[in-house]
Amino acid sequence: MSERRCDVVVVGAGPAGLAAAVQASRAGAQVLLIDQSIRPGGQFWRHAAEEHDADPGRWHHGWSTYTALASELQAAVDAGDVEYLCGHHVVTAQQISPAQQIGSAQLQLTIQPVPELAAGARGLMTVRAPAVVLCPGAYDRQLPVPGWTLPGVMAAGGIQAFIKTQGVAPGRRAVLAGTGPFLLSAAASVLQAGGEVAAVCEAANLTGWVPRGAAAALVPSKGAEGAEYIRLLAKHRVPYLRRTAVTAIHGEHRAEAVTLSRLDSNGAVIEGKQRYLDDVDLVGLGWGFVPQSELVVQCGARTRVDVDGSLIGVVDVHQRSSVEGLYLAGEITGVAGATAAVVEGRIAGRAAAREAGYTTGGARQLAAAQRDKVLRVNHRAFAQAMHRAHPLPEGWESWMQQDTVVCRCEEVPYQRLKEAAQTLSAQEPRGLKGTTRTGMGWCQGRMCGTAASCVARRSGAEGAEESAVAVAKRPLAAPVRLADLAERDPSA
Ligand SMILES: Cc1cc2nc3c(=O)[nH]c(=O)nc-3n(C[C@H](O)[C@H](O)[C@H](O)COP(=O)(O)OP(=O)(O)OC[C@H]3O[C@@H](n4cnc5c(N)ncnc54)[C@H](O)[C@@H]3O)c2cc1C
Repeated sequence: MSERRCDVVVVGAGPAGLAAAVQASRAGAQVLLIDQSIRPGGQFWRHAAEEHDADPGRWHHGWSTYTALASELQAAVDAGDVEYLCGHHVVTAQQISPAQQIGSAQLQLTIQPVPELAAGARGLMTVRAPAVVLCPGAYDRQLPVPGWTLPGVMAAGGIQAFIKTQGVAPGRRAVLAGTGPFLLSAAASVLQAGGEVAAVCEAANLTGWVPRGAAAALVPSKGAEGAEYIRLLAKHRVPYLRRTAVTAIHGEHRAEAVTLSRLDSNGAVIEGKQRYLDDVDLVGLGWGFVPQSELVVQCGARTRVDVDGSLIGVVDVHQRSSVEGLYLAGEITGVAGATAAVVEGRIAGRAAAREAGYTTGGARQLAAAQRDKVLRVNHRAFAQAMHRAHPLPEGWESWMQQDTVVCRCEEVPYQRLKEAAQTLSAQEPRGLKGTTRTGMGWCQGRMCGTAASCVARRSGAEGAEESAVAVAKRPLAAPVRLADLAERDPSA
């Protein structure tokens, strides 16, 4: 197993990671930037599959921010100040024990080439550094619904990703359902890609924004973006249905129709307030995002449950976690969008470079750091308001049927989960995993974790935090070949 060292390691080349790497390198640190994708940009600035796309910024907001960061990164790579290791997974992250410490390195990562991108390259590598910035982003949060395993049903983020890479909508006539402003963004992309949108169903009653107007006004660009989507939806006469959810998806071999249900103030289905909508071949479900917290949990850093119910890393104003040398930026510290991720990345990059012994003084830098502090606070306040205005509907289980599959990898139906939670005292996700195999498959609970936690918690006494940590506890962040594990130096 080979080993390398540097001053600052940045994990993730999305908005947060790009900003962190560029900032740390500006301060003079030798940076290693690792990302499992082949090109930088993360989920937000996802690239077209076609390398020489004539208009690569077509589907993106903030594209000029991306091009500025990407060209500064390239210049730093060319100068030998940054090593950009794309197509590599970070599999584990841990603190180095005092007995194993050599030099100033405090943290150690194990990385491996992503098999499908690496053309035969194999094996695990170790990286040690005095400072690590984790920016692993988030994945789509899902709630199961009868029919959600049919072809034609996608996560709202998956629809965005598809359109950004392929340039076409993955269906002809779509319904977007769930909660949060991201549904508007996904619906707008479907329209712009030439698809039709039959309805956008928002589970929340938007009155939740009313007492939070002041927080919303702190980030005017978000309001402008929302208005842009609403204008587009109005132009295409797309109905925007509040307190409504897709509570069943119908079709023999693929999605063909949906049931739309009115929800009560608890998010439960109101009997008699359902309607059938046919001629639908694309259903996009989006219930927000879940931060990828397994590397943070592996390091033993402090976590907490955010207002949207997701597990996030706790940081101070410098994005410093509770673990020496470990910094966190972007969605991992709370889902707040790409602009907030860039700001936090810059703050973390500066602080990590300082940790590695590089100072970032100068009047201009200090002024920039001060501006970032204010931006960070504003974006965080906006995000908290957004999460409170768009909660997960408490009563989502009212639309489940006994045979609705919850864990898709292991094909575990809702009924088995309920029975295990009630009769086997499997009152936390790990207990459910052991008794029903929920969350044990390929995705390691990323798809079913939210639902399994809700079911377990309703039957048991475990709190939201323990439950979220149990879902996020993954000893490996990506699958590893047994042969590679066997070759690993046991002392490393
Ligand atoms: C599928 C999807 C689509 C989205 N589309 C939009 C959109 O169109 N508009 C919008 O406003 N928001 C979108 N979002 C939300 C968006 O992710 C964030 O607002 C923004 O990208 C956050 O930036 P980030 O740097 O924190 O994370 P990301 O952009 O997610 O970047 C994280 C990076 O870390 C890498 N990574 C993660 N784990 C590892 C690991 N173990 N080893 C190596 N690399 C790793 C990933 O490959 C990724 O490149 C989307 C989210 C998802 C999940």
